[in-house]
Amino acid sequence: MQNIIGHTRQQKALIKLIKLAKLPSALLFSGDSGIGKKSLAIKIAETLLCHNIHLDNIDQLSGCLECKSCLLIKAFNHPDLMILDYQREEGSAIEATKTLLSPLNYKPFLGERRIVILDNAEEINIQSANVLLKKLEEPGAGTYFILITQFPRRLIATMRSRAQQWSFAPLNRDETREVVHEIAQKEKLKENDIDSILPLLEGTPGNLVAYAHSLDLALSRVHDFDTTLEKIISGDSELLISFTQELGRDKENLVENWTLLIKLLHQKLRKDPINPSIAIALSELISSFRLHNSRNLAPSPLLLGALITLLPKLRGFSMKRVSFLQGL
Ligand SMILES: [Zn+2]
Repeated sequence: MQNIIGHTRQQKALIKLIKLAKLPSALLFSGDSGIGKKSLAIKIAETLLCHNIHLDNIDQLSGCLECKSCLLIKAFNHPDLMILDYQREEGSAIEATKTLLSPLNYKPFLGERRIVILDNAEEINIQSANVLLKKLEEPGAGTYFILITQFPRRLIATMRSRAQQWSFAPLNRDETREVVHEIAQKEKLKENDIDSILPLLEGTPGNLVAYAHSLDLALSRVHDFDTTLEKIISGDSELLISFTQELGRDKENLVENWTLLIKLLHQKLRKDPINPSIAIALSELISSFRLHNSRNLAPSPLLLGALITLLPKLRGFSMKRVSFLQGL
């Protein structure tokens, strides 16, 4: 795996902690999906587990890429790198948690250290948290937990308080292009397809991996949403209501769809920067997304409340609220 693009400040701080042997035994990485949190966690694991690296002398987060440990990580088959994704865990989460943690009663298999990555940690329920908390408190020498989440406030508070919190921002435009290029090469994607989807990956290029195998589907969804927004902007209030209801019902894709809407409105605002209704709708859409995530409020009314500002009869709202958008 190549070096992590972006997040320079965090990478420097992590390198320093590892060099000084002061890396906390539990870290919580938060930030949007697709910005490289999990890749960074795996890079930390690679560094800590590599057989050829002297940790007091590192200048980057990487293993040698050649030793047994590095090769096992590359093959996603390292016994001391344990990863559980709580969004993908279909069976009983508590059973999966117990199975994951059982090796922690013994020494690491290959070396002195081991890393446990808990992805989508906001989905960890109380029962699994109770099992995890003991280990988070007393992980044992050489065991490191890295919790990953898009929604740190949704995490069970007792878990959140036991991990050192690190937040990660979306990548800038150059970094995004660099990551997209890398993924596109690896996934053998066509330049043309990438160009049409690029605006939607701004800041969160890792999401291309999710699109890679269903690029046609992703492109048609982008097209559908764009057409719907245009119709709403031209005054189709009935479509607005059915569209927001439909989005609210599609729980599985809610986050992705909501983010897509935000990105499409961003694009529209860039083309038409003084359009107050787009600016207001965008600001409402972002704050309602945060509200939904922090308080778990029903999505449809929030989406409706945000997008209703696009309707022509509601245009001409106070421009003051547009200043809201500065700094986004
Ligand atoms: Zn190595």
